[in-house]
Amino acid sequence: MDKISASLSNSTKIIITTHKSPDGDAIGSSLALYRFLKKKGKEVAVIVPDAFPEFLNWMEGTDLIYKYDEDSEACDQLIGDADIIFSLDYNSLTRIADLRNPIEKSEAVKIVIDHHQDPQEFADHYFVDTDSCSTCQLVYEFIENLGELEKLDKTIGECIYCGIMTDTGSFRFPSTTSKTHQIIAHLIDLGVENSKIHQEVYDNSSEHRLRLLGYALTEKMVVLSEHKAAYISLSQEELKRFSFKKGDTEGLVNYALSITGIKFAALITEKEDMISLSLRSKDDFYVNKIANEHFSGGGHIYAAGGMLETSLEEAISRVESVMKANG
Ligand code: 5GP
Ligand code: MN
Repeated sequence: MDKISASLSNSTKIIITTHKSPDGDAIGSSLALYRFLKKKGKEVAVIVPDAFPEFLNWMEGTDLIYKYDEDSEACDQLIGDADIIFSLDYNSLTRIADLRNPIEKSEAVKIVIDHHQDPQEFADHYFVDTDSCSTCQLVYEFIENLGELEKLDKTIGECIYCGIMTDTGSFRFPSTTSKTHQIIAHLIDLGVENSKIHQEVYDNSSEHRLRLLGYALTEKMVVLSEHKAAYISLSQEELKRFSFKKGDTEGLVNYALSITGIKFAALITEKEDMISLSLRSKDDFYVNKIANEHFSGGGHIYAAGGMLETSLEEAISRVESVMKANG
């Protein structure tokens, strides 16, 4: 913290980056840190690799976020001028797609704030806790360690609340600790309206999204009871049929995991150029290992992801064999 604090004092231009397909924790932590650093008088910009779901748009500052895939020239310029680059909610440059190139080239001081397993060596400083529930909790603790909690306000609090809420499955996952609840209590004392945030994120679905959920659970879920595993697969054609928008399948894999006796669940989604996998588990079953060994991915012990460059049929058959071999 002393080294980070000295770097911060000597800096004026700061860039905050997060992983591709940003989720609530990625956007929440980036915007919370953004506003905190603005309050310290810094010139700050948030750059993300690509678009994020519309149900995060209520957070203050989302309209100021640069998307690298839409505006790479402006982003390259900002990154080239930066004194400090923060990497939030990712542990490897492979998680930021093409944003990797300008960041690798940059001479700025690089600081990681993250909670994923196995942080890779690409930065100067690491504020990392792989047991932490969320990067948002770590941003709170980062500000706490700087001795500047008095700079928190309702807006920063809303962003931190959002990331903690989404990454803990609304305070359900084992990573939720008493410290998490103490932080949440502080945020509510700052004026954060908890039920408003739950509504913004979870009660904000299109009719198409709900019908896709119904279809996926009724028609597309395969339960391998004897292997304590279940999976759902969705093709491009099916997604198009339900007017798929980014974020529409968020949370879907958790329904498969919620079946009694199921310890390992997967969502297999056909993207335009690859197959993406979303993996969840519980108890003594760890999916980050599975993601790493079989699907060129990683993540947390109970929530991980990966990808395959195969047909959807081939991906389904590989997931089934991994489920049968491990459960
Ligand atoms: P989700 O299933 O919600 O997309 O991702 C769950 C977790 O797995 C997240 O913490 C995310 O960072 C991680 N994850 C998802 N996809 C990948 C991937 O392709 N590579 C790695 N290393 N982690 C991933
Ligand atoms: Mn996270």
